[in-house]
Amino acid sequence: MTDRVADVFGTPAPHGRGTVWPARVDLHLDDGLSEADVDRWVQSACVLCSNGCACDIAVKDGRMVGVRGRAGDAVNHGRLGPKGLYGSTPWASSPDRLTRPLVREGGRLVETDWATAMGRVVEVSKALLEEKGPLSHGFYTSGQLFLEEYYALGVIGKAGIGTPHMDGNTRLCTATAAAALKESFGADGQPGSYTDIEHCDAIFLYGHNMPETQTVLWARILDRTRAEDPPVIVCVDPRRTLVAREAERTGGVHLAPQVGTNLALMNGLIREVFVNGWLARDWVAQHTVGVEDLRSVVDPYTPEEVARICGVRADDIRRAARIFGTSRAVLSTVLQGFYQSHQATAASVAVNNLHLLRGMIGRPGRGILQMNGQPTAQNNRECGADGDLPGFRNWDNPAHVQQLADAWNVDPMTIPHWAPPTHAMQIFSYAETGSIGLLWISATNPAVSMPETGRIRKILGGDQCFVVVQDLFLTETAELADVVLPAAGWGEKTGCFTNVNRTVHLSEQAVEPPGEALSDLDIFLKYADAMGFTDQDGEPLVPWRTPQEVFDAWTAITRGRPVDYTGLSYQKLRGPTGIPWPVNETHPEGTERLYEDGQFPTGTDYCETYGHDLLTGGNVTEQEHRSIAPAGRAFLKGAAYTPAHEPASEEFPLLYTTGRTVYQFHTRTKTGRSRSLNRAAPDAWVELSPADADGLDITEGDWVRVESPRGAIEVRARVGQVMKGAVFAPFHYGHWDPDGLAPDAEHRQANELTMTVWDPVSKQPYFKTAACRVVKIRSGDGPSTAPTTTASAPVHDDLPVTAGGAPTLSSVVDPTPYYPLDSSSARH
Ligand code: SF4
Repeated sequence: MTDRVADVFGTPAPHGRGTVWPARVDLHLDDGLSEADVDRWVQSACVLCSNGCACDIAVKDGRMVGVRGRAGDAVNHGRLGPKGLYGSTPWASSPDRLTRPLVREGGRLVETDWATAMGRVVEVSKALLEEKGPLSHGFYTSGQLFLEEYYALGVIGKAGIGTPHMDGNTRLCTATAAAALKESFGADGQPGSYTDIEHCDAIFLYGHNMPETQTVLWARILDRTRAEDPPVIVCVDPRRTLVAREAERTGGVHLAPQVGTNLALMNGLIREVFVNGWLARDWVAQHTVGVEDLRSVVDPYTPEEVARICGVRADDIRRAARIFGTSRAVLSTVLQGFYQSHQATAASVAVNNLHLLRGMIGRPGRGILQMNGQPTAQNNRECGADGDLPGFRNWDNPAHVQQLADAWNVDPMTIPHWAPPTHAMQIFSYAETGSIGLLWISATNPAVSMPETGRIRKILGGDQCFVVVQDLFLTETAELADVVLPAAGWGEKTGCFTNVNRTVHLSEQAVEPPGEALSDLDIFLKYADAMGFTDQDGEPLVPWRTPQEVFDAWTAITRGRPVDYTGLSYQKLRGPTGIPWPVNETHPEGTERLYEDGQFPTGTDYCETYGHDLLTGGNVTEQEHRSIAPAGRAFLKGAAYTPAHEPASEEFPLLYTTGRTVYQFHTRTKTGRSRSLNRAAPDAWVELSPADADGLDITEGDWVRVESPRGAIEVRARVGQVMKGAVFAPFHYGHWDPDGLAPDAEHRQANELTMTVWDPVSKQPYFKTAACRVVKIRSGDGPSTAPTTTASAPVHDDLPVTAGGAPTLSSVVDPTPYYPLDSSSARH
């Protein structure tokens, strides 16, 4: 039995190259329960990160009481991480669940019935449609609903209302993943597979703190790096994360570029591939376009020039490039360090470029994982709830629009396709001015997670826009709404979702939702019914009554598209493992890797986008695309590095960057209600390098004020592993403080300081580049409560590692275990 808060990755299972990752079944049950006490187990998969670990939900007396990993599943081979084990179920029986709808009366939210709440939404909705038309409506959804819910929402928004103003919080986390895949390969869809870990010689992690974001995937890597013939690790991250330590341990490289300079570094690495002749020339000639343009773009980025821009050593750049250029099989993973940064898409596309230049794609060990942050982000993108057209269709291609119009039996002109879909940052601007008069927010908490949250609170709380929120709890966002709709959560409803590895899982309903809470699907259907949306023949536009009916409609619409689900059914998904799409007549058991044949979905009539200029975001036109005639070849695209537009200054001399901790997920709606997890990371903090802390007379645990031109937070300092000149803050914390463990919860929200700016291609906001200053307020009375087990460990403590790679609690500054388990039963 192991405390998996302390031992994040669990018992190791080292195994050799090319062998199957051994199974290990992880289990957690509520206090005092054993497996014999469980009434039944219900098939599902974890929704607390993008890894999509398969699990069974334990049910006893009509309550969810724990989870157990599914040994036969290809994603996790039975493993679950601390969030999955301890965070999956406690929220469900939390006494503060929303159980009835709320409406605002006299400035206060008061309980009401569904008829009143939905009646109010429909009244506003109809009046706005009548007066201002479809553009008066905006929808901002999540990366945590099910596929069926996104698809229903997509149809309602596009064919019922006809608004282009629809996006998800995926804009904040994986919009760049989608954009980078589309720009290089013509369509979204992860080329690689988790099984590439078992076959590769080297793993490059670009801005990806995997030990905190996808713990089970990191355990999979550790089981290779701690065995014979391990892969070498290369880490690109401004913090000395566990990835960086593993890079040092395996003889790899830790590159810590200055915040905002990723693209310069990537251009330098690509240049080295050209200069040293590591190109797969024949493959590149046959399967790509744009190689000579790319060569000229990267030509100025010598190792010395990159060293000057990024603040890394030229020899380290050469070494990292040599590892990439000479390894037989490389796996690359990319996440928020790139996606939420300056020139995000260009830097992420550069990762694809490296692989294409070496022809390193579509075969075992040679993979790219443009990662997702959230469990169902992929479905949001597939189904069009992020504004795109369902099935990876191109909004700029009339034939694709017509396919949807035929399927939905609506006039194609109803479906918004006269301009690119509106991204979240613009949706909130429209809501700010009142041009969007109804903003419907589902399963997300923008009052904490969007940049510049002081502004977001004003938008949500103002009179210019009617705000509808559907959620599990009265979040910081729901508090500001005009109508709040109580939603059922994971385990309380049925639906499918697809992880970053394209693997589709079915998550079955295990228990009833509390009170009058309804599934998000049922809420959307209730709205569609009340609005009376019909097709061209006067039949209901949204005729489905069950998740399975929606799923079947969805699979039909994917036929012939890259994201082909036609071979999937609920029955098939009740088998031993999730199944990666495409699944169809040609691939009845799914597809482990895309592009094995070097053929990409880039044909002008088939692709999801004609692409963009990576520097400006300017659209490539159909004619321009056709003139390139990619016809199944991938794009090699580049862009010059430009400095971030808010550099450090005399007034704000440090660079501010935000991120995550392993123990919390997003704005803590679920993980904050797990005692084990919340006590492991109960309050916000800010990390400073020892040099900066010394210069500011700050020591571990002191209270500091961090200010940017947009706002300030007051939190305790961790003198940590961050590079000199940079300041790191976790973004999870709003003012909600369930255990009363935060002395100043009103002033700890990291996004008070971040900027309303976004990448020109993916429209993903920058959370990693902003100028700030730090001032000591008062001395602390001990170390900050920041976790000590991962990248936020105090700097003066050289963390020992166990055989499995997990840091141990003996290394903490305050060795008191301040996060005792609230369970008696956790194994592995
Ligand atoms: S790695 Fe992610 S999906 Fe797997 S158990 Fe942990 S939080 Fe859940």
